[in-house]
Amino acid sequence: MSKRDFYEVLGVSRNASEKEIKKAYKRLAMKYHPDRNPGDKEAETKFKELKEAYEILTDANKKAAYDQYGHAGVDPNRGGGQGGADFGDIFGDVFGDIFGGGRRGGGQRQAARGSDLRYNLDLSLEEAVKGLTKELRVPALASCDSCDGSGAKKGTSASSCGTCHGAGQVQMRQGFFAVQQACPTCHGRGKIIKDPCKKCHGEGRFEKTKTLSVKIPAGVDTGDRVRLSGEGEAGEFGAPPGDLYVQVNVRDHNIFVRDGNDLFCEVPISFSKASLGGEIEVPTLDGKVNLKIPSETQTGRMFRLRGKGVKSVRSHGVGDLLCKVVMETPVNLSEKQKELLREFEETLGGDEKAKKKHSPKAEGFFDGVKKFFQDLNS
Ligand SMILES: [Zn+2]
Ligand SMILES: [Zn+2]
Repeated sequence: MSKRDFYEVLGVSRNASEKEIKKAYKRLAMKYHPDRNPGDKEAETKFKELKEAYEILTDANKKAAYDQYGHAGVDPNRGGGQGGADFGDIFGDVFGDIFGGGRRGGGQRQAARGSDLRYNLDLSLEEAVKGLTKELRVPALASCDSCDGSGAKKGTSASSCGTCHGAGQVQMRQGFFAVQQACPTCHGRGKIIKDPCKKCHGEGRFEKTKTLSVKIPAGVDTGDRVRLSGEGEAGEFGAPPGDLYVQVNVRDHNIFVRDGNDLFCEVPISFSKASLGGEIEVPTLDGKVNLKIPSETQTGRMFRLRGKGVKSVRSHGVGDLLCKVVMETPVNLSEKQKELLREFEETLGGDEKAKKKHSPKAEGFFDGVKKFFQDLNS
């Protein structure tokens, strides 16, 4: 079912004044009022339709959106309760307004809670893994200690605003429309400070750099954050402060790469060590440990050192250290060393049987290549 045009619902022209809209609404709302039409579903539907049209067309922003974009401009799923709204709510809302009863809730703006702050903390991998206590210097709006955040000079207090009589809002006329606006004199607070505090110039807070000591637990990683409750910006005029979030960023390490609670590193080994096997030294965050390498270790083989990773910040678990051994081709060889290698190469022998014995991988590879070219030519 497509929606009816809101102006049509209220039976007014598109350039009707707010007064005309209210008048039309009052007349129709009386007619379709559920109390006057008990059990009449059609009247109930009409009443809800009226309410929605009225709400949109008496809200300057929504009206502008509706005039420009139609129903698409005022998303019914967000705007407010047509359909499911209960009648008690509808009456309190609308009739209070029309019949000039006490305005709902009052327009006075509450003093705002202080903003939350974010502090970006760069840590080395070692710091993140072991945890530490860090001194932070945080520039933030702090509550004025001279006036206790009130903004009024000591011994005085804020008085009710004369422009809005403490309501915080005033009626402004714009062409045909009367629009509720925040009071320009007191900016919606409803209060005026006649004798401002000298220290904070009546703001109730001022910028101050505070030093905080924050305990960073062991095992934190990039993206983790530590909340310091109440250490954010001071609230306006004594309202509660915000929180400070310390956002952790762990810098890259020159040996280890971290993946969750596991650490990864590459360890170079010599050709002879890889062939003969033996012990190699492997770095861990707690110092060096020896790792036994079996003979005939191929390059790229991964060794897992259990429990040598990072202790989890959330559980009791500890990650592993994954070591990838990478065989390093020897460089800057002397003539003597080269000669020895040639001799060595000769001992391996050039026939098929020798290849199969000493270099099974290469053998398998070259077999595959041979077959590939045969298939290509057949
Ligand atoms: Zn002050
Ligand atoms: Zn005011």
